[in-house]
Amino acid sequence: MYLFLFLIGSCFGSFITCYAYRFKFPNLLKKKRSFCDTCHRFLKPWHLIPILSFIFLRGKCAYCKQPISFFSTIIEILTGLFFVISYSPTENFTYIFKCFLFIWLLLISLQDLQTKTVSASILYLGGLCTLIFKSFYSFTFNMIDAFLIIPFLLFLLGMNYINKLGSADTILIAIFFGSLGFLSTLFSILIASITAIFYIVIFQKNHQIIAFIPFLSFGGLIMHLITIR
Ligand SMILES: [Zn+2]
Repeated sequence: MYLFLFLIGSCFGSFITCYAYRFKFPNLLKKKRSFCDTCHRFLKPWHLIPILSFIFLRGKCAYCKQPISFFSTIIEILTGLFFVISYSPTENFTYIFKCFLFIWLLLISLQDLQTKTVSASILYLGGLCTLIFKSFYSFTFNMIDAFLIIPFLLFLLGMNYINKLGSADTILIAIFFGSLGFLSTLFSILIASITAIFYIVIFQKNHQIIAFIPFLSFGGLIMHLITIR
């Protein structure tokens, strides 16, 4: 059972990395089959099995022997592990929600990492599904939350206006407000900011604009996992 879940998860991981990569190079979206990044030859179905293909091919393309990116395999393993760890036999609905959230947030994170943009349709559609999912089992909306959220959102829109915060970041935070409530969203932003600061201190040598969606997604995912019962 767990092996099955791991395989399903790793297939999703494989699909997400492929989609994010093709989002980076839009002319590749037209290609129907998967191909090698270096020699552009179409791959056979047995070259595409998540993780296993990477091991059997020893991390190299079957045709040109150039190294395959290890990044995709890491994402596949991570997604597979998440599908296994978050599984609980009694709570199927919550499990589906967690997996959905993980895939959606991972997809927009990869898009932001690679292109510094996020596709609007995926952002909105995923956000809408998150709110619908959440409203099914715990829709607690209180007025105090609304009074706190509205000024905070206006503040974020102002930050967005003066280009201190990306539009996608603002929208994602707004979605989190809807599904997590005020306090948990603030915690998500706190986790995101702390991890981003660590990232900048450790890895960033020059002052570039960093993709904030991956950090925000990480914080939001943690707070969802903590608060989902
Ligand atoms: Zn090749």
